[in-house]
Amino acid sequence: MRPTSRVKILLWAFGVAFVTGLLGLGLPIEDYYRMARNAMRAHPPSGDIVVIGIDDRSLEQVGSWPWPRTRHAELVDRLKAAGVKRIFFDIFFNSPAHRGEDRAFVDAMKRAGNVYLAGYSATARVGGFSEKLPIPPLRAVSRLVSVNVRYSGTMSVRTLPYASNIRGVTTSSLAATLANVAGPADIQFPIDYAIDIERLPTVNAAEVLAGPPGLAERLRGKDVVIAAASQEMGDVYYVPGQGQVNGGFINVLGGETLKEGRPIDLGWLPALGIGLLLAAINLLARRRWVGRLALAAAALGVTIVPCIAEMNLIFFQVIPAALLVGIVVVSHAWAKFRQSYKVRGNINALSGLPNLNALRGENVPSDAVLVAARVRNFAEISSALPPESERALINQIVSRLALGARGARIYQGDEGIFVWTSNAEIAGADQLEALHALFRSPALIDGRAVDLAVTFGVDAGSNRSLANRIAATLVAADEAAAEGLRWKAYDPAKLADAEWKLSLLGRLDAAIDSGEIWVAYQPQLDLASGRIVGAEALVRWSHPEKGEVSPQEFVLAAEQHHRIDKLTEFVLSDAIKTAASFAARNVELDVAVNISARLLEKPGLVSLVRRLLAEARLAPERLTLEVTESAAMTSGRASIRTLEEIGSLGINVSIDDYGTGFSTLEYFKRIPATEVKIDRSFIASLDRNASDRVMVRSTIELAHSLGRSVVAEGVESREVLTELTKLGCDRAQGYLIGRPMKLMGLTKLLLEDHKSSAA
Ligand code: C2E
Ligand code: CA
Ligand code: CA
Repeated sequence: MRPTSRVKILLWAFGVAFVTGLLGLGLPIEDYYRMARNAMRAHPPSGDIVVIGIDDRSLEQVGSWPWPRTRHAELVDRLKAAGVKRIFFDIFFNSPAHRGEDRAFVDAMKRAGNVYLAGYSATARVGGFSEKLPIPPLRAVSRLVSVNVRYSGTMSVRTLPYASNIRGVTTSSLAATLANVAGPADIQFPIDYAIDIERLPTVNAAEVLAGPPGLAERLRGKDVVIAAASQEMGDVYYVPGQGQVNGGFINVLGGETLKEGRPIDLGWLPALGIGLLLAAINLLARRRWVGRLALAAAALGVTIVPCIAEMNLIFFQVIPAALLVGIVVVSHAWAKFRQSYKVRGNINALSGLPNLNALRGENVPSDAVLVAARVRNFAEISSALPPESERALINQIVSRLALGARGARIYQGDEGIFVWTSNAEIAGADQLEALHALFRSPALIDGRAVDLAVTFGVDAGSNRSLANRIAATLVAADEAAAEGLRWKAYDPAKLADAEWKLSLLGRLDAAIDSGEIWVAYQPQLDLASGRIVGAEALVRWSHPEKGEVSPQEFVLAAEQHHRIDKLTEFVLSDAIKTAASFAARNVELDVAVNISARLLEKPGLVSLVRRLLAEARLAPERLTLEVTESAAMTSGRASIRTLEEIGSLGINVSIDDYGTGFSTLEYFKRIPATEVKIDRSFIASLDRNASDRVMVRSTIELAHSLGRSVVAEGVESREVLTELTKLGCDRAQGYLIGRPMKLMGLTKLLLEDHKSSAA
């Protein structure tokens, strides 16, 4: 991840945490979290403060609220008699009662001399100023303590003030007075709710009034707080972790807190500041361990540190800080995960090589040459291999390619595609030929020799997009394979042609129906008898505007766009009818039809051929299907099965363009073929080229030893024909014997041939 995006994460997280702290959005969670810590730290109160609770039982026994002041006078007398230290009333006496009653109360307080009465003074948000003070006669004989309570945002009480300003006088709060602590007005201190409120010594008011024996022992020397202990009397607050609690108990808990010491409330900002620092270290540290250490410190900071701090009465909020650290950690982890995912998405899982996606993301200069190698039979080979061996296969391919790539990074695509960048000097024809030669020796996988059929596609520098250029090299490699070439350079002029090709395709079906497309027949000569025994059907398109369209061109386009079916059916049907018409005249003619590799892969071909043969009543052995060597090699099991079915029908199978692929003996045996058709590149100068002669001779020997016949194509000279006869070739095809011609021409030729042999 880039540093700028790290800083972005940090700032964003800080923003969220800051707003959370400022608005107190984290307080409910903060409460729950603190409650959990409180549970661990729970401890009893000092026991020096006793609550005299006016609870439901007291109300039942003494009478409903408010009690007459004489009752309170009685209480004071009883408490005085029990020897309490100080008497606090957390009850408001802000309105005069019956005069006699008030006097009794005044007298009792005078006698006791240690009574504190609650007062309250605040600026209410609604309704302006509100104040509740004891009436003057009562105030005169008592001391005043403030019982101002402030709610937090969640309507709960977390803090109490040390003192409040009442009528311009700083009046110590009930809590502070209980603890004998002085503090400035309106300064809040946090209440330590770890003090167990249940264990506050409590006596109900009715009991005090009844004065049972032993009461004095429980009260002597204690401060007592007379307070409501019933929900009915109001004065109820929400205390985190305790639920509804009467205000008196909260004040007492505040007193207990202050007895433990002066608590410090740091709020949320300091923790957030430290959190920011640690998160920054975590994100930006150069060394990994430093970042981890910072994270560990942050983790301690929100767990152990608050526990220890609270034991020392230091309180602070951790949620904003925890939120900050949490956001940073999660988004950092997420960013890292996404990045690693991206990296994984750019790497071939098996070989660890970068894939084409990675190449597309690369900054390749426009004058760089792109080279693609396509191992055409990769899928077939690898599908039969365990992953270990597939890796070994890839390694062997890559180590050969590396010689041609000269140290350039090799990117691996799916299904045996490898691409690298190069420059004009080292991606020339000679280099590619040499690289191609390296693949002539089979790869050794699991002790087995595996033939690799490789073609190369080249895209010389151009300003087109990289993705476009990569695609172009792959197309070129495919075209090289289709045309029986070892490599091919992508021709940008063809790009303009693409449109034309498409419009051609659109017209293909109509062209078949209208007769623009027709079948030419090229005769085949039987070398032993010197007679024309067969013909290869070659499709032709006489386009009204474009003239003769090369079959190379539209056959390839039709194959690529899945439009080859109808075309093949047309040629097959024409060839079979032709052979049948000759058979009807007692002339035996074998017809050969070219079949695209694609058609072998899908079902339907066998039934189509069988149907056409049946319709024309032609013997299956009159028909030969030509499959190119490279197509046969790269074909999968389905294709092999198709060929086997064709063979079992008695139809001949010929391996076309033999020698341009890289079949070895092993492969040759696997393909169910009856015939080998040696490619014209080996035949054309057979009479002058020794290595061609070696190739042709060994092929003939091999084929014959396996019971296959041999056809030579591209015979253009008498010398070559003589040579072929000498080598024991079975049949010959080429311009010398006859160019591809219309059916009429073939008929004439055959009839002449027939006559001459009859003569
Ligand atoms: P192919 O199967 O190798 O066909 C032989 C090609 O060599 C034909 O080219 C033929 O005209 C040419 N040829 C014949 N004798 C000579 C010779 O002495 N010298 C030279 N230089 N060339 C000779 P064509 O007709 O242009 O066909 C090209 C390719 O188009 C064929 O190669 C075949 O792969 C494909 N093709 C033609 N018709 C069909 C078809 O009906 N179906 C399919 N799938 N492919 C076809
Ligand atoms: Ca052929
Ligand atoms: Ca051929």
